[in-house]
Amino acid sequence: MRIDILTIFPGVFQAPLGAGLLGKAIEAGSLEVVVSDIRDFADDPHRSVDDAPFGGGPGMVMKCGPLFAAVESLEERNSLRRVILLSPKGRRLTQDIVKELAAAPDMVLICGRYEGVDERVGQALCTDELSLGDYVLSGGEFAALVVVDAVGRMLPGVVGDWESVETDSFYHGILGPPQYTRPASFRGIQVPEVLRQGNHEAIRRYRRKEALRATLRQRPELMAKADKSKEDEELLQEIEREEPGPA
Ligand code: SAH
Repeated sequence: MRIDILTIFPGVFQAPLGAGLLGKAIEAGSLEVVVSDIRDFADDPHRSVDDAPFGGGPGMVMKCGPLFAAVESLEERNSLRRVILLSPKGRRLTQDIVKELAAAPDMVLICGRYEGVDERVGQALCTDELSLGDYVLSGGEFAALVVVDAVGRMLPGVVGDWESVETDSFYHGILGPPQYTRPASFRGIQVPEVLRQGNHEAIRRYRRKEALRATLRQRPELMAKADKSKEDEELLQEIEREEPGPA
C-alpha cells in the first residue's frame, strides 16, 4: 500500500515511521509512506501556505492553492480515490474505517495546522474527513500517524501472527481479553488459574468471557452493537449471575 502524507512539518514523521512494526513494514515494502512538504507547492517566494481568514478572527487559515497543487502532483503515483483530511469535524476513526482503508491500494492524508484549512479543501479536494476524537490537536500530523499505524498493522504480513490482530480490541466489535505474563504471582496478585493449566478450550472460553465482561463494564455502547453468538449470550448470563448489573 502507498500512503502519501501532505504536511508543513515533514520532520515529525521520521522517527515514528522508523520504529517497530511500521518501520519493518516499510522496510519490507508492504507499506510505502511518502511525506511531502506542502510548502514546496506554494506559488510565492516566501513559500506561504496560510493567510488571514475572510471575515476576520484570530489566527491563519491554510490556503487552497498549495494543497490542491500538492494533491494534483500525485496524480501519476496515487489513485487519489481516498484523499483524506484530518479534521476534528470529520467522522470519528474506528476499527471498521481502518479495515476499509487497509483494503485500498493507496490514500492521501492531509495534515492541517493553524486554525485549520480553507473549507473548499474539504469540499472539492478531499473524499473524506477523519477525526481522532472530540478534542483539538495543534496539527493533523499526529492524527495522520495514528491512521498510518492503525492501517499499517492490518496489512497482510505486517503483524506476524494474524490471530493477534483478530483478538485485539474492536476487531470483532468488542474489547480484547486481559493478558498476563510471568511471574504468575506479582506482589500477591495472581494470574488466573485457568491461563496456567493449558486447557485450550477452557482458556478460549475464559478469554471470550473476560472480553465480554470488559466491554460490558467499560464500553456498554459497543456491547449493544456487537454481533453476539449463542455462546456469548450464555457467557453474558453467567457474568450477570456473578455480578448483577443495573436492572
Ligand atoms: N479551528 C479548527 C481546528 C484546527 S486545529 C476547528 O475548530 O475545527 C488544526 C489542525 O489540526 C486541523 O486542521 C486538523 O488537521 C488537525 N486536528 C485537530 N484536531 C484534530 C482531531 N481531533 N482529529 C484529527 N485532526 C485534528
